Amino acid sequence: MMVVEQFDIVIAGGGPVGMALALALREYEFSVLLLEARELPEKVDDPRPLALSYGSRLILQRLGIWKNLIQPTPITTIHISNRGYFGHTVITPEDADVPELGYVVNYHNLYHSMGQAVRSSSAVYRINALVTAVRTDLPLAQVTYQQAGVTKQVCAKLLVLADGGKLAEQIDGVRYYAHDYRQMAIVANVKVESALPETAFERFTLNGPLALLPASEGYALVWTMPAATANKILKLDDKSFLLHLHEQFGNRVGDFICVGQRSSFPLILKHASTIIGHRSVLIGNAAQTLHPVAGQGFNLGLRDAWELASEITRIPSDTPGEPGSARMLAAYSRRRQGDKHMSRLFTDSLVKLFTADISLVQACNGLGLTALDILPPARQWVARQMIFGSKGWFVG
Ligand SMILES: Cc1cc2nc3c(=O)[nH]c(=O)nc-3n(C[C@H](O)[C@H](O)[C@H](O)COP(=O)(O)OP(=O)(O)OC[C@H]3O[C@@H](n4cnc5c(N)ncnc54)[C@H](O)[C@@H]3O)c2cc1C
Repeated sequence: MMVVEQFDIVIAGGGPVGMALALALREYEFSVLLLEARELPEKVDDPRPLALSYGSRLILQRLGIWKNLIQPTPITTIHISNRGYFGHTVITPEDADVPELGYVVNYHNLYHSMGQAVRSSSAVYRINALVTAVRTDLPLAQVTYQQAGVTKQVCAKLLVLADGGKLAEQIDGVRYYAHDYRQMAIVANVKVESALPETAFERFTLNGPLALLPASEGYALVWTMPAATANKILKLDDKSFLLHLHEQFGNRVGDFICVGQRSSFPLILKHASTIIGHRSVLIGNAAQTLHPVAGQGFNLGLRDAWELASEITRIPSDTPGEPGSARMLAAYSRRRQGDKHMSRLFTDSLVKLFTADISLVQACNGLGLTALDILPPARQWVARQMIFGSKGWFVG
């Protein structure tokens, strides 16, 4: 007969958001199991750059991660423009009343640091553990997973899905609303003739937004475009790739001199019809997957993890039925509604407005950027939304 282990909390998916939750719970008395399908974080190589907001820095400091991160590059200026149209705006730390607007790190560096911290925490961390089924129609949530060819089962008072969104539809009542942007993001490191220190660029083009994020050497490029165009551009030799990039980006950093290895990611907008079920909750990309424009996805997922931990720990660990009662989950869902809604609306509107192939819309976007530039309150709102989410909240 299969032995079924029991935990207070089982987290399915040990990406950065699942690990953040395990770390946020490390000083409490709950038994926590983190199941991750991939191998040790040190063996994972994911080249995407992550722009972390100042708000995320505060959370990562609380989780003990920040001090071990390899060279996060600060962002003190964000320059936003629209290719082929007038109008631009510049956001600075004064707009949000913070010392720095954000930081650029590599996904894999962040993931390694978090992995080390999780391994020295009280959470039970199992890698190469692929969750194959979840059940939420029993008094406790039940999870089936496979590790080293063996099928195992655990049950939990609270099941947290942080797997990026593959398992959620096994939970009663959860459906995804999805919009396929039919776009891909090309990611690569580039060197330029005249880099502007600590300056990030967001350039909207009719094909999609193009971001240059300051990195330790040159810039990390996140260049979005229709999938068919991306497939062609990925095949260009370095010289043609750099010329095409220069043509789209313009002359603000001079010539593009060299490009490192290129990778690509398909882009969709996806969000769950509900983020809670019986003894279960969705966080991070499992709850919502956003377009990378404005770098909101992980920042939002980190706030999911932080606020879920705070809802869980608000109630004494020996309270019968907790964590994971319907009341606790409803409180969490209410608490996250505004932030999630605004972040989704914000990123989706940016993509749709700036890629609309209608001159009038583009002219209005130009006016909007000019308005942002001359109206500090509007710029301050945008800056605080990007840094702290809809509540403009602060963890300090
Ligand atoms: C090109 C690009 C650039 C981006 N830039 C930014 C940015 O600048 N700033 C920002 O905030 N966000 C950015 N994002 C978004 C960000 O990468 C995601 O929001 C973030 O990685 C979500 O973390 P997560 O832990 O929820 O999910 P994931 O990173 O997808 O992790 C999910 C984890 O679950 C595991 N898993 C999956 N299925 C199972 C299973 N069945 N059993 C066990 N484990 C499982 C996976 O192996 C993985 O480790 C970007 C995204 C892209 C594509």
